[in-house]
Amino acid sequence: MELKTWKYAVSAIQELNPYLPGKPIEELERELGIEAGTTIKLASNENPLGASPKAIAAIQAKLNEYNNNPTDRMRTLELYPDGSGHHLKQKLADKLSTDNTRISTEHITLGNGSNDILDLIARTFLTIRRDAVFSEYAFAVYPIVTKAAGAGRHIAKAHPTDHTMPYGHNLKAMLHQIRGNTHIVFIANPNNPTGTWLNSDELEHFMQQVPVHVVVVIDEAYCEYVDHIAYPNTLEWLDNYPNLIVTRTFSKIHGLAGLRIGYSVSSPEIADLLNRVRQPFNVNSLALTAAEAALDDDEHVEKSAELNRRGLQQWEQACKQRELDYIPSVGNFITVKVGENAQLIYEAMLREAVIVRPVANYNLPQHLRITIGTKEQNERCIAALDKAMKL
Ligand SMILES: *Cc1c(COP(=O)(O)O)cnc(C)c1O
Repeated sequence: MELKTWKYAVSAIQELNPYLPGKPIEELERELGIEAGTTIKLASNENPLGASPKAIAAIQAKLNEYNNNPTDRMRTLELYPDGSGHHLKQKLADKLSTDNTRISTEHITLGNGSNDILDLIARTFLTIRRDAVFSEYAFAVYPIVTKAAGAGRHIAKAHPTDHTMPYGHNLKAMLHQIRGNTHIVFIANPNNPTGTWLNSDELEHFMQQVPVHVVVVIDEAYCEYVDHIAYPNTLEWLDNYPNLIVTRTFSKIHGLAGLRIGYSVSSPEIADLLNRVRQPFNVNSLALTAAEAALDDDEHVEKSAELNRRGLQQWEQACKQRELDYIPSVGNFITVKVGENAQLIYEAMLREAVIVRPVANYNLPQHLRITIGTKEQNERCIAALDKAMKL
């Protein structure tokens, strides 16, 4: 910083608050001298059952193919990946199509995680003198990609704590924040870190009211965990709303966060625009292979969703027994109000080798966001929380 080179960066970047990731396991074990391999990380909403076994097998097979056949230069790591991701897109299109809606490869854009897609969307539709709208407590990446694009933001008040969906997105308030220069609305359904969700009726009503120059991004990173009948099938709306973009990811229920792969489904026109901004090889070949195999692994998805349902119940019960306020969640995490000492409680839990996530950066300084783990992990986390709260 001696040269003050930061001054040469564009002002929006100088003002950018960096994303705060969950603490990595290795870092904690190194810092606190905790025995390697004993830590549980419930800080980044990763799948406690791990990656889809089919995805792991597919990558292993691909690497073995390389070992066994070093002269076959068609499928090896030294080649660039298929920049169009053709096979995966075809597989996704087949999987996502229903009797009511035909999804084709032209609707799909692949990203290096869905975060990459969110960034592509911001760079495609935002610039200075344009702005984006999102809710209070919305996913932290929306302000980052908005600001990085030089654009402004308008934040809609969330539902109050006595609402049936406390801390949830208030679509009416979001609609009010839309102005002539608003070009994107970001909606997370369910939202992270609140776990709140929007039903089909209210969300479609919102779509009907939004001016067509405004792109509506519905971020469905956790959709596979939701089992309410009123949860929308937004892909069925694509024909009616050319300004709709639905984003999804392989990071959460498929357990492939480390490989970085996600996608969006939109009108072909929007997909064409995103494709112009996209790095030609933004998704790596192992991620493509793993994602294709993960799509065949319904068993892993169902198992993960079922484990999560039971884990959410376990946590809700634990919170009720302790008279701890929590935000009712349909995601794979629960955000619990532990009080003014949230940061100290978080640190005390670290000493028990349990990593959760403080959410003060979301303006929730009294809450901790806890990823739902296995039954045993949840028990250990609850015990660590009990101990930490007594200090
Ligand atoms: C985790 C998460 C994502 C997914 O991020 P990836 O880049 O796909 O790993 C997107 N949106 C929300 C709300 C999330 O919590």
